Amino acid sequence: MENNIDTKCLHAGYVPGNGDPRQVPIYQSTTWKYSTSDDMGKLFDLEASGYFYTRLQNPTNDFVASKLCELEGGVAGMLTSSGQAANFFAVFNICEAGDHFITSSSIYGGTYNLFGVTMKKMGIDCTFVDQNLSYEELSKYFKPNTKCVFGETITNPTVNVLDIEKFAKLAHDHGVPLIIDNTFATPINCRPFEWGCDIVTHSTTKYIDGHASSVGGAIIDSGNFDWMAHADKFPGLTTPDESYHGITYAEKFGKGAYITKATAQLMRDFGAIQSPQNAYYIQLGLESLAVRMRRHCENALKIAEYLESDDRIAWVKYPGLKSNESYELAKKYCPNGTCGVLCFGVKGGRDASIRFMDSLKLATIATHVADSKTLLLHPASHTHRQMTDEQLLEAGVAPDLIRFSVGLEDPDDIINDIKQALEKI
Ligand SMILES: *Cc1c(COP(=O)(O)O)cnc(C)c1O
Repeated sequence: MENNIDTKCLHAGYVPGNGDPRQVPIYQSTTWKYSTSDDMGKLFDLEASGYFYTRLQNPTNDFVASKLCELEGGVAGMLTSSGQAANFFAVFNICEAGDHFITSSSIYGGTYNLFGVTMKKMGIDCTFVDQNLSYEELSKYFKPNTKCVFGETITNPTVNVLDIEKFAKLAHDHGVPLIIDNTFATPINCRPFEWGCDIVTHSTTKYIDGHASSVGGAIIDSGNFDWMAHADKFPGLTTPDESYHGITYAEKFGKGAYITKATAQLMRDFGAIQSPQNAYYIQLGLESLAVRMRRHCENALKIAEYLESDDRIAWVKYPGLKSNESYELAKKYCPNGTCGVLCFGVKGGRDASIRFMDSLKLATIATHVADSKTLLLHPASHTHRQMTDEQLLEAGVAPDLIRFSVGLEDPDDIINDIKQALEKI
């Protein structure tokens, strides 16, 4: 009998045996000891499974990755040092110089830069697309060298919901996998694999940790994409890897091929591993994820409804509001709620927004989002501060946009804080 997701948050991933520690142990060790040279040789050849060096794998990380994997409904998963590393590995594991991929343009700014600037320097080209275009319009962006499609379940910072089924069909009709960054929804509110997505990534730094304690990321594979059926597109998985004595990942590891390759090649060569100590913090966060997500969503909806009713507020965007462009998609993909992030503008433009923010007492100005405490950021004065108002509008970020990440406080206290700050404009 399979447990429900709230129970999995507590019990999945690590099952202690008789006399074992109840909580996931932290394996604070770089190395493992073996009796014979041959024992260790087999691990290097991927002929036996076991641990030998924490840059590649560590048991604490694996317990936590397998909990996340069960929550998402995947077959294999790995932790990375950050969400940035997760998104880089997820794409780089199947794209090389000369390849191309398609990504929604409504994605986290750090990912936008990674794809549009840094990966371009590595010879991997991407096309940014408007995720609300039709299937037919989006089909026109595929090229013979297109290797994957990328999007976010709920976009940061504009909180739009991706039409996952449309994107999955689009990717599969062109013989490539769909990769989705599920950071804002978390597996509590959306499980993209149930809608046809192939690979999920996370910045665990956000709701999964939930307490602003540790930067981290994760990649989970559904195991559903058939690499061998599109062997010519994915030679890294379907032809022998000479750096591993001629192993062909898709033949030897089947549904585990993608994560095994990412561990054996990318983690070996780039070393963006999460520390076991941080994996432990994420494990603590995961235990209460389901309970926290419900409260984040309840609070955010109350605050969005209040903002919509106050005529000093110019506009509000939250997918739980009937007025929101993503309301129908949110009902379909996130029927129990979306996330605790919303954005809005204060009447009076950029200057009024800044005066409002500086007057808040409970909500904190911070370069962070999706945390237990209410936080906010003004992209025009922070992450995008070098841009003029015209450039901001081109980038889809209104000059008065405030990204407001609703925490777990009593919602009346958050609303009272907003009210007193609005008085000061
Ligand atoms: C924060 C974030 C990232 C980057 O994650 P880090 O852990 O900060 O490296 C990626 N995607 C989304 C949606 C994010 O919010």
